[in-house]
Amino acid sequence: MLSVRRATTLLSVSAAGVRVCDVPLLRELTWPELRGTRPTVVVPVGSVEQHGPHLPLDTDVRIADAVAAGLLARAPELVVAPAIAYGAAGEHEGFPGTVSIGHEALRLLLVEYGRSACRWAGRLLFVNGHGGNLATLVEAVERLRHEGRDAAWVPCATPGGDPHAGRSETSLLAAIAPNAVHADRAEPGNTAPLSELLPAMRAGGTAAVSRNGVLGNPLGASAEEGHRLLATIVDNCLAALRKWSPGPGGRL
Ligand SMILES: [Zn+2]
Repeated sequence: MLSVRRATTLLSVSAAGVRVCDVPLLRELTWPELRGTRPTVVVPVGSVEQHGPHLPLDTDVRIADAVAAGLLARAPELVVAPAIAYGAAGEHEGFPGTVSIGHEALRLLLVEYGRSACRWAGRLLFVNGHGGNLATLVEAVERLRHEGRDAAWVPCATPGGDPHAGRSETSLLAAIAPNAVHADRAEPGNTAPLSELLPAMRAGGTAAVSRNGVLGNPLGASAEEGHRLLATIVDNCLAALRKWSPGPGGRL
């Protein structure tokens, strides 16, 4: 019965990548379908925050959702939960549309989520789409693990990618949700390395270093590149998931 339901949640699967599911699986299940199972539950964690003039505010949610859908397509025994769509994004609060619940609220949310879900889930995997959630996620997962709950996390990391609303994220969105990308509004932001920008960002947020909110350069992004990036992220996450060896901070 589960496999039939799973098949309905994915819009399509292509050789190049996986399209995001419209309806997260957990939302579709009934409780008797989970009775007696101890599934690994995958929870996308995103953020609602500015992504420059050309990408939607929920970019990080869409990316985390797409990675979770990619995992589900390759490992149908997983259960994918609806995303935790809000995160810690105070660095972007200089731009309208950003809604950050901050470190304390996110930590509590993740810990209570884990405590509740682990009453029936065997394992809990947070798929993180927003770098600003990282310190909070580590704290929450460490707490859950300390309490004996088998929680872990993986990043939606794109090796060598630019930090924010640049070529990597724009390519990913072009692959995942092409209609959500305003390519005509894409323009370069601050292209200096993040390590150079961090001191100014800590004091004044993204707005202090980038007028348009972009860190990187979205010009040159493409759906083809996005499909490749997404496939790489899913491959890496899947390998980590199959190994399931949480390191310091609970990262797989
Ligand atoms: Zn982002």
